[in-house]
Amino acid sequence: MNDRRRYLTTRSQDETADVGRRLASALNAGSVLLLVGDLGAGKTALVRGLAEGLGVAPDEVSSPTFTLMQEYRGGRVPLIHVDLYRLNDAREIDELGLEELGLNAVLAIEWAEKLPRPFPDAIEVRIDHGDGDERRLTIAASPYLNENA
Ligand code: ADP
Ligand code: MG
Repeated sequence: MNDRRRYLTTRSQDETADVGRRLASALNAGSVLLLVGDLGAGKTALVRGLAEGLGVAPDEVSSPTFTLMQEYRGGRVPLIHVDLYRLNDAREIDELGLEELGLNAVLAIEWAEKLPRPFPDAIEVRIDHGDGDERRLTIAASPYLNENA
């Protein structure tokens, strides 16, 4: 159990993006951000802010749900944005080779609960729906996901 969890409430897409924007300054090549939350929770919104914080044009960031993986360059460090929504097979996920790909980039992974193996030093952001546009964010150092599995 670690006590390094942070709880935040946001009330708009922009506020959630702002959390990503602020997280960006703490991330470097090799950093991994695990995003957990239902469809429409705001995972992609947070990645949009993250991109902006890294210096990538945020309007380049769309949901990669249909493309699985996108890489954005032009920022302080490359950003690789992955969405595991459509993958259910652990082997398929393994074949993406995320560990290797992430070595030289910031890796942001939506639906990270599908990962067959945890990333040891990841930051995890869980986004839960509140009433209306309210979202509750829990930011924690790994292995929060596994503790709660
Ligand atoms: P996900 O990637 O988790 O499926 P998206 O970021 O694509 O979610 O979409 C989030 C949706 O929820 C958007 O339509 C956004 O406008 C809406 N929304 C409403 N309130 C918030 C909030 N507080 N944070 C993030 N998104 C919000
Ligand atoms: Mg998304």
